[in-house]
Amino acid sequence: MNDLRPWLEYLQEIGVRELAAPAPRAASRPVRAAAPAEPARSTAGRSRRAGRTDPARQRSHAGKPATTASPRNEAPSTALGNGADAELFAAFDGPPPEDRAAALQVLREELGECTRCKLHEGRSKIVFGVGDPCAGLMFVGEGPGADEDRRGEPFVGRAGKKLDEMIVAIGLSREQVYIANVVKCRPPQNRDPERDEIATCSPFLTRQIETIRPKVIVTLGSPATRLLLDTRVGITRLRGTWHQFRGIPVMPTFHPAYLLRAYTKENRRKVWEDLRAARSRLDS
Ligand code: SF4
Repeated sequence: MNDLRPWLEYLQEIGVRELAAPAPRAASRPVRAAAPAEPARSTAGRSRRAGRTDPARQRSHAGKPATTASPRNEAPSTALGNGADAELFAAFDGPPPEDRAAALQVLREELGECTRCKLHEGRSKIVFGVGDPCAGLMFVGEGPGADEDRRGEPFVGRAGKKLDEMIVAIGLSREQVYIANVVKCRPPQNRDPERDEIATCSPFLTRQIETIRPKVIVTLGSPATRLLLDTRVGITRLRGTWHQFRGIPVMPTFHPAYLLRAYTKENRRKVWEDLRAARSRLDS
């Protein structure tokens, strides 16, 4: 019960007055991993918005988390989608749409001028996230680059322009989606965020997802994909296939920065297919 206390306090803080009782659970069943090397994982979740009847979410109601144990003998998993967190995530609908902007603001204030991990040492600005607090589609990248660090906004450099093009290509605008990163401060020399940094910062991403409750998440590149899917399988194998994060459909695709570096017809086609699949899922 102690594990749940901080979550309940958070829910209270963001204005949740009551928790929806979880639907009676049918016999527990494991969730099929979509990638061969990916361990079975929790996908408990539920459709949260009126009119949304996504079958993937409905299916996930019936099953408790398949397993939370990591077979790897290493540091604790930084995965976000298992354990008591997932149970609680499945049990409430999130703040009502009209309260989501305020809830994100509360979260931003809680983050403050964060010094929780060593990435604070080199940053200029925290890059929290941007977009529609009620977005149906959420993009998750790995961390800010130089332009983002200067401006305090995600995906505003060359890669950001490419992401904007990708968003427009599926008939949406930047203002209609939500964009966030796994870590909120720029890693030195744009290196990948390290395990301890991800473990420290990613709870804020979880809470952004909890608040926004997107219908579809698109992960951009390996770090975001590995975190949300709790896997070490590379993005090349995972992209183009559906996965879940706490019942929310997740489509991994290449990071726009990678796409710019390897701007081949084949890679452009793959990213387009991934985004088109995400758009279809969003419309379903
Ligand atoms: Fe804090 Fe996240 Fe920045 Fe680390 S990366 S200092 S946890 S905001």
